Amino acid sequence: MTPQIQQIADTFVNMYLIIEPEGLSLVDAGTPGGPKAVARALARRGRRLSEIRNILITHADPDHIGGLAELQAASGAAVYADAIEAAAMARGEASREPKISPALAPLFGLMQLMMPITPFANAQIIRPGDELPILGGLQVLATPGHTPGHRSFYAPQYGLLIAGDSLMAMGGRLRFVDGPFTWDYAAGCESVRQQAALAPRMICCGHGPVIRDTPIPLPALS
Ligand SMILES: [Zn+2]
Repeated sequence: MTPQIQQIADTFVNMYLIIEPEGLSLVDAGTPGGPKAVARALARRGRRLSEIRNILITHADPDHIGGLAELQAASGAAVYADAIEAAAMARGEASREPKISPALAPLFGLMQLMMPITPFANAQIIRPGDELPILGGLQVLATPGHTPGHRSFYAPQYGLLIAGDSLMAMGGRLRFVDGPFTWDYAAGCESVRQQAALAPRMICCGHGPVIRDTPIPLPALS
């Protein structure tokens, strides 16, 4: 990865650390084990959690905000999230009802046990079109689909797209996944088309490896 962006793996989910002379920013907060993973990654660079200035949230799922309250308390960082996702975070809930079949219900119950959500009520609201003072102007993109208020972050200077779960990269293959946790598949496909039009050179997803120099495949609406 470039010196400014580091993927931090927290079991099955990724966070992204952005290192700039002005300070450290983190995208997403991982599972409840996330703070440990971030602290380890920072320690290898001789840095500390307290140096994190900004925490950007792509969406309010428990694998992306499970470590948020702890990371914010350790750092005093400003937290940025979309209004719908921030409201869900404040309630300690996900931002949409999963479509859970009876067969999946036990698995879902286990996930909730493993990843309890600590409510977090102090996010600053970001809107599509906002530009954050990170990486020379980090653009907030509306990328609904996985969740209603899902946001991605795009740094044009670096051709860098931080896509959260608007794109998955498991197995090194970019795609938008439909399933019980998809809020609106058609909206997600449209979000993918808009992100593909940016032709990002580097794509950082919530799950899977960083993808470089690969066009985003356009989804076929099924
Ligand atoms: Zn996820």
